Amino acid sequence: MTDSQHPVRPTDPRTVSELAEAVHAGLPSTIADLSSLVRIPSVSWDAFDPAHVAESAEAVAQLVRETGLFDEVTVSRAPIGDTGATGQPAVLARREARDGKKTVLLYAHHDVQPQGDDAHWDTPPFEPTLKGDRLYGRGASDDKAGVMTHVAALRAVREVVGDDLGVGIALFIEGEEEFGSRSFADFLAQHRDQLAADVIVVADSDNWSTSVPAITVGLRGNVTFRLTVRTLAHASHSGMLGGVVPDAMMAMVRLLASLHDDDGGVAVAGLRSRDAQHPEQSEETLREESGLLEGVRTIGHGPLLSRVWSQPSITVTGIDAPTVANASNTLSPEVSVRISARVAPGQPAAEAYEALREHLLTDPPFGAHVSIDDVDTGDPFLVDTSGPAIADVTVAMTEGWGEAPVQTGIGGSIPFIADLVKTFPHAEILVTGVEDPDTRAHSPNESQHLGVLQKAILTEAILIARLDAEIR
Ligand SMILES: [Zn+2]
Repeated sequence: MTDSQHPVRPTDPRTVSELAEAVHAGLPSTIADLSSLVRIPSVSWDAFDPAHVAESAEAVAQLVRETGLFDEVTVSRAPIGDTGATGQPAVLARREARDGKKTVLLYAHHDVQPQGDDAHWDTPPFEPTLKGDRLYGRGASDDKAGVMTHVAALRAVREVVGDDLGVGIALFIEGEEEFGSRSFADFLAQHRDQLAADVIVVADSDNWSTSVPAITVGLRGNVTFRLTVRTLAHASHSGMLGGVVPDAMMAMVRLLASLHDDDGGVAVAGLRSRDAQHPEQSEETLREESGLLEGVRTIGHGPLLSRVWSQPSITVTGIDAPTVANASNTLSPEVSVRISARVAPGQPAAEAYEALREHLLTDPPFGAHVSIDDVDTGDPFLVDTSGPAIADVTVAMTEGWGEAPVQTGIGGSIPFIADLVKTFPHAEILVTGVEDPDTRAHSPNESQHLGVLQKAILTEAILIARLDAEIR
């Protein structure tokens, strides 16, 4: 389903069946190429050998060159702000649009998370292993399958549409998404013209299941800061003054308790929720996935998925206070905590921060001195589902999967999407993906479902063919 105002016409059935044939015929080489990429342990974290990331960038660049669609494919790096350091290598290619057609930017990343403890893997993490419908290995899904989705879709499109493809194509395969995309903003600034597009496909998210696709339309933002409460100029013996002056912990506990209502719902005026429809998730699944202990209740209000996708949340993620081992009979003069809040799509992170600040600083318990510092914010992201590209991808998914997509949210954030929105405010961003609920990205035994891969490739090929048939 789509809220789009744009006419949703099906793709020419002959094009769809020719693309399906090409994707199917190409699948063995797609899987072979994916396997070769998985064999390169391209972990982008500082403590790992950057030679592997460089090697995987070259391997991806070669695959992109072999599509024959680009005059020039480069491996480039950008600085990381003014730190003097340089980011990991990304692959960049562009083919200009012709005849007034749109340009689509295809994004994925070729770096991976560390494999963790080898003992937790049933098969060697960097030895791609086929079992049943799934290919196992670190990066087999996140996000080397995203890389191969772009490559294989381009191969199929070239085969079916031919060399006179008019739609513009930009390709950006990042090399450090798993390490915070540190040079992403600089990369965008440096290569603005090469990356400029009307539609951006970010192939790094999830599907509803192996048979139902999803398009991610909402991502929560975040606000984090240190909160400090002071009540006394110095520590005092609890026997001498306990019961007459408040210690900082007592005031902090009361202050933190005021952030939630009795059901654990957020109770801060000014933090907004997003009004949206949510698919049903069973409490049983949630309990199992989260490891919620017997008898412990869920928190908040409304459908379970609305609490994660469309409502704010507030968590205390750290505390500086005397440790239990070092505790003496003392009234603490000062306590600090780290607050991590998630912001619902639709509310600017700065506005959410103001609401939290107002709540915490106004009339604190016992008149305690409350201060906030070390603030970090990231805006949420909400796709305008009335745009023409959403209509296109919805049709393409329906034709590629044989099932209409579910519009989903993500409780977490993809911070670089905010950079994309800032640099290309007029582009439509489509967050698609190759994962499914059993992918285990970032965990041991990560795997890619090959049926999902095939459907994701076909979807993207159809999307590109549709854009090729449209005038801007
Ligand atoms: Zn990823």
